[in-house]
Parts: sequence; structure tokens; C-alpha cells
Amino acid sequence: MTPVYLDNQATTPLAPEVFDAMLPWLKDNFGNPHSPHVMGRKAAAAVEVAREQVAALLPKNGRVIFTGSATEAINLAMGAARTRQGRDRIAVIDTEHAAVRDTALWYRTQGFETRLLPVDADGLILLEELEACLSEKTALVGAMLVNNEIGVIQPVEQIAEMAHRAGALMLCDAVQGFGRLAIPQQPDLIALSGHKIYGPKGIGVLWVRNGIELPPLIHGGGQEQGVRSGTLSPALCAGLGTAAKICAERMEVDMTHIEAQADRARSLFGDWTVNGSLEQRYAGNLNIRRDGLDVARLMSDVRGVAFSAGSACASGSGRPSHVLAALGLEPLQIKSSIRLGFGRYNSLEDVEQAAHLINQAAETQLS
Ligand code: PLP
Repeated sequence: MTPVYLDNQATTPLAPEVFDAMLPWLKDNFGNPHSPHVMGRKAAAAVEVAREQVAALLPKNGRVIFTGSATEAINLAMGAARTRQGRDRIAVIDTEHAAVRDTALWYRTQGFETRLLPVDADGLILLEELEACLSEKTALVGAMLVNNEIGVIQPVEQIAEMAHRAGALMLCDAVQGFGRLAIPQQPDLIALSGHKIYGPKGIGVLWVRNGIELPPLIHGGGQEQGVRSGTLSPALCAGLGTAAKICAERMEVDMTHIEAQADRARSLFGDWTVNGSLEQRYAGNLNIRRDGLDVARLMSDVRGVAFSAGSACASGSGRPSHVLAALGLEPLQIKSSIRLGFGRYNSLEDVEQAAHLINQAAETQLS
């Protein structure tokens, strides 16, 4: 039996239109988009159409660079910190995805001083802590739009304005917000991923504000404006472009549908406590806990639902969630938390079936 899929933060199913858009570039149109002949030019044109489709959802005064993932886009973006003369400090929110957090911490080995900014019990950045840490030494500030584990929406506009007042660059990991929410205009660097918006895996984007210098991450043939060498996959680009286009067309419809699922889930999981802010949140992410529960056991008992115990990375590694810990949750509370992710292709019946199976297993465990 195929489980009910409620893990749309880990990845999303491929939209059928995306699959159709990719196929021709995997079959007959195999030209290298960097070749000057007619087949190459055709592939290059498809890549540029996709670039425009992604750019349509991003601020106007910048450029779109295709990468192999959002993680790669973030690694590329953080290189901009090296271009800021006399500045050797990086500040990122403690609850960032490992792609930002661990990369920022790695910069400590490169002579940078990296600060992890604390959050309050709701998971929201403490702006006074950011203010206190900013100085003429700060090169880059990193803040995510929507948290992948708890769905909390950070005040990215304010964070960017504060970073700019200190003369620092601002990187926004918009992976969980792109295609779902309006993208803030203020960041200098924005990262996103194909497989979180019903597009393919293996492709991401870095958007860079005009005028920002970016050292190359991958050296070679000079593709992607000289910063990310390597032959692009027209199929992946066309898939991501089409996924972005559909998100733009359906943003309101998708949101209404996801809010309906979230409302139903909140009432069906009435005995559970929500982790993270109730107000500043993306409705498609519901992170809840029930005291006394052992989620590892729950997950093996509930085979009929694909859901998560924290972020896919944290649950895969067996590491307790650094996000829930940053909110001040005790280890036992962290072990009793699950994440449900609603998506475009889920129905209210999916939510009801999942709630029935999870609640039933939880009751058995707690009785
Ligand atoms: N940032 C956030 C918030 C994410 O949720 C993810 C994926 O889980 C990433 C970054 C990394 O994206 P990718 O899988 O494209 O490297």
C-alpha cells in the first residue's frame, strides 16, 4: 500500500506538467546548451525561458544562476562574504537549515567569526540580538524565509534592512517559501530548490542582486556567468521553470487548499501542542508534540503515513533537532515531536486518514 504522503517539506512530488516539460529534453532534444549549433541553441533557448520563469517570482534587479541544489546555491552565495574588505564576521539564525548553518560554521576555519543568532520560544529571531551583533565587521547575515522544521516565517525584510544599515550583505534561504509566499525584495542573495516546488531534484537557483561580486564556486568552462562551471541540464532547467510558472499561477489556490488541510489537521490533532509561532507560520508545515511519546516508535508503528520526526536531515542522522532545541524544548519533548507537511496533491481525506492512524498509534503507545 502506498502511504499517505505528508512530508512535503522534505520533498514534493513532481507536477505532471513538469514531467511533460522535461521529457523532450531527455529524449530527442539532447543538444548541449553551450554548443553554438542549432541543437545547442534550441537547448540554450529552453534554459533561458526557464530562467525567466524563475525570475518572474524574484526581485527585478538581479540575475538567476542555476546550480545543482539549494545547498550549492547557498555555498556559492556565502562566498560573497569573502569580497567584503575588512569584514570577517558572519551571523546566521541558529535555526537555519544545515545548508546555511553548517556552511557558516565552516567559515570559522577560513578566518571568519561566525555567530549563531538565538530565537525566542516561538522560533522567531530576537532582533535585539541581531542588532547587538552587527558591526562594521559584519560581512554577511543569513536568515531563512520559512523554517523547514517548524514552518515559522522570519521577518526577512527587517533583518535585511538591519544588515544593510551595518553595510553587510543579506542571504535569504527561501527554499521553503519560494512559490508559496511572496518573496521579500530586500535580500541581496536568495536561494531556492526545484524539488520543494513540485519540480525536479538536482537543481537549485541562486538569485544575486546586480552589482554584487561573487567568487566562482566551481571552476571550469565558465558557464553560469563564470561562477558555476559545468554543462547545464536543459531538462532540469525546463522542469524548474515550469514548476515556478505553475506556482505563480496557482499561488492563491494552493494556499487556500493548504490552509484547509492545516485547519483540519489542527482540529484532528487537538491533543497535541504546536511547536513554533502560531501566527508567523506557513500553514503547510505543522510541527506538533505529545508528551510521553517516543516518535521513533511511532514512526515504525505508522507505516501508512510518510511523515517526519523533525527535518529529513536531522531524523536521518539521528541527531536531535537543533531547531527544536533552539526553541528551548527539552530532549524528551523533541523526541515526542512530529512534522506533517501538506501539499498541492494532498486531499482532506489524506489528512483525516493520517490523523486517524497517528492518533491511534499514539493512544496505544501512551495507554
Ligand atoms: N534550505 C532549506 C530550508 C531546506 O528545507 C532545504 C532542503 O531540505 C535546503 C536548504 C537544501 O535544499 P537542496 O536539497 O536543494 O540542497
